[in-house]
Amino acid sequence: MRAMDYRGPRRVRVVDKPMPKLEHPRDAIVRVTRSCICGSDLHLYHGMVPDTRVGMTFGHEFCGVVEEVGSGVENLKAGDHVLVPFNIACGQCHFCKQGLFGNCHESNAQATAVGGIFGYSHTAGGYDGGQAEYVRVPYADFGPTIIPDWMDPDDAVLLTDVVPTGYQAAEMGGIQKGDTVVVFGAGPVGLLAARSAWLFGAGRVIVIDHVEYRLEFARTYCPAEVYDFREIGDPVVFLKKITDIGPDVCIDAVGADASGNAWHTLFGKKLKLEAGSAVPLHWAINSVKKGGVVSIVGVYGPTGNMVPIGNVVNKGITIRANQASVKRHLPKLIEHVREGRIDPKGIITHRVPLEDVAEAYHLFSSKLDGCIKPVLIPSAA
Ligand SMILES: [Zn+2]
Ligand SMILES: [Zn+2]
Repeated sequence: MRAMDYRGPRRVRVVDKPMPKLEHPRDAIVRVTRSCICGSDLHLYHGMVPDTRVGMTFGHEFCGVVEEVGSGVENLKAGDHVLVPFNIACGQCHFCKQGLFGNCHESNAQATAVGGIFGYSHTAGGYDGGQAEYVRVPYADFGPTIIPDWMDPDDAVLLTDVVPTGYQAAEMGGIQKGDTVVVFGAGPVGLLAARSAWLFGAGRVIVIDHVEYRLEFARTYCPAEVYDFREIGDPVVFLKKITDIGPDVCIDAVGADASGNAWHTLFGKKLKLEAGSAVPLHWAINSVKKGGVVSIVGVYGPTGNMVPIGNVVNKGITIRANQASVKRHLPKLIEHVREGRIDPKGIITHRVPLEDVAEAYHLFSSKLDGCIKPVLIPSAA
């Protein structure tokens, strides 16, 4: 089969790989019909995530058709159209029982923090992902969700990560009616976090970025007040000024690849003395009101970052963070899509044949051609 192959930072291509096989009674093989490139794939692509191995197939956002199921999978059959949450979760361990599907204890041999994730670094279990014609799906009796007949597959594929991650970012913010919510990052997750903030009762939603076309998009899609951080001086001072006492909730939807500070770029991205650049986290902690909430869904490597923890203590801030527990949110999100309260496919800007994966990564990484969300289409789709 054809599959994306990681060759090292900024080098990806499509190669022939062996067809995945059932390796466990709870496995399924899924023929991929759509697979997105995620902002967090760019962290891999840029070499920001430890233990990203050459030869891996990325892709944790995919949907497709069940080809084959193991003997232990009774709720799926060949021919079912499914969306597959990016978290690989057993559904039975201590953490899964609490709905913490992003922290499954069984799916990642490291098991100290994050659970298994399709197509990510070996810190997330080292599973091959869905930027391929076929993919092996472990714990297939638990994760995959049948796509309702009425749902557009373009909406379905975005329910595997971007939508639930943005939604959980807003949920973790504990937004109260009328709250001012600031989202750092106008990428796909930031856009969905800002959109979701309204569903939780926000009274004012502000998006900060520096990519002009994305801010323009956020203005109408979310809809949000938008600011280019290059034009507002110190974002912390600016946010305090326009919100009087500081935002009630700040959401970091950027993670390790952040721009905006030469010091962080040097220490985190060039010298790798911290796990990437943590600029939005500094802005979030320092601008949020005293007693406010900082919600983090941006991806950071599992090692340390220099964050202003003293300010967290002195301001009495609550920090909430996690990988989204996709499966937990799906029933509600499917309802929101059906009722038109969330429009996932509205963020898709590019459809690219899987064969052109290198071009798609370049386009997305360099923010060319107004790219917000690229979707890869395998030729067998
Ligand atoms: Zn993703
Ligand atoms: Zn589990």
